[in-house]
Amino acid sequence: MTVDFQEAVRDEAALRSALADADIAPMLMVLVQLTGDLDILEEVAPHIHGAWSFLEAVPEPLKQKVRDRLVAALKAQATTGRPPPPLPPPDMLQRMMSAGVGQTVPEEYIPLLVEETRLGAEDPRRVRWQRDPATLPLRDFKVVVIGAGFAGLCTGIRLKEMGIPFEILEKNDAVGGTWLENDYPGCAVDTPNHFFSFSFNPNPGWSRHFSGRDEIRAYIESGFDKYGVRQHVRLGAEVTGAESTRPLRAGASHSAGAIAGRRPSSATPSSPRSASSTSPPFRRSRDCPASVARPSTRRAGTAAWTSGASGWRWSARARARCRPAPPSRRK
Ligand SMILES: Cc1cc2nc3c(=O)[nH]c(=O)nc-3n(C[C@H](O)[C@H](O)[C@H](O)COP(=O)(O)OP(=O)(O)OC[C@H]3O[C@@H](n4cnc5c(N)ncnc54)[C@H](O)[C@@H]3O)c2cc1C
Repeated sequence: MTVDFQEAVRDEAALRSALADADIAPMLMVLVQLTGDLDILEEVAPHIHGAWSFLEAVPEPLKQKVRDRLVAALKAQATTGRPPPPLPPPDMLQRMMSAGVGQTVPEEYIPLLVEETRLGAEDPRRVRWQRDPATLPLRDFKVVVIGAGFAGLCTGIRLKEMGIPFEILEKNDAVGGTWLENDYPGCAVDTPNHFFSFSFNPNPGWSRHFSGRDEIRAYIESGFDKYGVRQHVRLGAEVTGAESTRPLRAGASHSAGAIAGRRPSSATPSSPRSASSTSPPFRRSRDCPASVARPSTRRAGTAAWTSGASGWRWSARARARCRPAPPSRRK
């Protein structure tokens, strides 16, 4: 239990006032998880008809019952200093989730939802090595990540966890990606922010359910510092093309703009197995015309294209060409 939690619960009037504004479904889930009380779940569930708060019709006295019990449960939790309850078993989670969204959540969704929401104590997306990393030549495996938005940050965090050297090339003069570039009035997410954030880095301080651009940008910015990724970012470096030095691995995908490969032995490889001899059909990306300008810099290594695609894939050995971006890019 954190000090923040203890303090939040100590002031019962403030707690009750906050709960008076809270949606019934999340309150119910917290209550059931803290107490294991499935009776209250069954009592409230028939009044919840969908995932959105406007789809519930829980009578006020029943809501108050949930609030009162939740206050008691939270205070008990704070005073005993017990650790948070463990992840409920899958059948109980299924009942809870089904009640929360007003329809049966199929059994096969449960592992996905546990992973997405990081309900368990462990980060389910942490890297799991199949072999002892100490036996792998990780330092010889350099990754070039293109783009310092959400996906580039996440990729950097995971690479750091893995101990793999990397550099993030970003054409803009600041990190943030789309949340840097868009600043029109009212610019905001349309996914509730508690979902639109990393499962391993929740932010209990979102000021709104659908936060504005400045707040989201600040969240990304702080992630670069918190996880020590900022020093791996080279700003003002626009990737202008990529060449494969190896054929694409069978079945690997590059259509989302992901390019990847292992570092050749030198920064500007002279191997005859160069791009022209293998020439995988890299698609031109809207963000990276494949044949612009002569490269001023070469970065050889694995490249992960992160632009606009919240993911990255391995495909082939590659060299990325980049050049300094025009100085007009905004901060
Ligand atoms: C107004 C708005 C609201 C949105 N709301 C939601 C929402 O509610 N829910 C949701 O899921 N998604 C939403 N999105 C989508 C949003 O784009 C993604 O959620 C996410 O931010 C994308 O992150 P990314 O890192 O994949 O791409 P980006 O944020 O686009 O980052 C890509 C980075 O790559 C850099 N780059 C591109 N090409 C090159 C190059 N050649 N060389 C070097 N650097 C390069 C770019 O400068 C950029 O910094 C919204 C988008 C906008 C614009």
